[in-house]
Amino acid sequence: MELDNLYQEVILDHYKRPQNKKLATTFDAQVHHVNPSCGDEIDLNLVIKNEIVTSITWDGVGCSISQASVSILTDLLVGKSITEAYAIYDNFVALMQSKGAIKGDESVLEDAIALAGVSKYPARIKCALLGWMAFKDASVQAQAKSELG
Ligand code: ZN
Repeated sequence: MELDNLYQEVILDHYKRPQNKKLATTFDAQVHHVNPSCGDEIDLNLVIKNEIVTSITWDGVGCSISQASVSILTDLLVGKSITEAYAIYDNFVALMQSKGAIKGDESVLEDAIALAGVSKYPARIKCALLGWMAFKDASVQAQAKSELG
């Protein structure tokens, strides 16, 4: 896989020094997602308070793309409102599904832009999306729970 050198550095940095990789003991939702085609696995715990994503913690094993992508996601989405987080999520999914056709908006995606090149490698897109799918799943569960009060 040929990714831009600077982007590769961002990915490796998150892989070697993952952010928020320690499952919190309290959470509103906990999910376990796997990507069988590569062997990637993650657990993700989420806390949403007053429509704000206040904590995303995780643990996992797998390839550098999958693990770096979750780390980047936690950096990016903690502190955002659910609406903002979903906008970023939609932006990232669109980028991954673009087959390299769009470059992505760095002002929205920040470090996640480093994964742009992955969209040209269909086998790896699921790796990059694993954490994002887990976040979406957990957020839906957390919101359903808060509506029940
Ligand atoms: Zn993978």
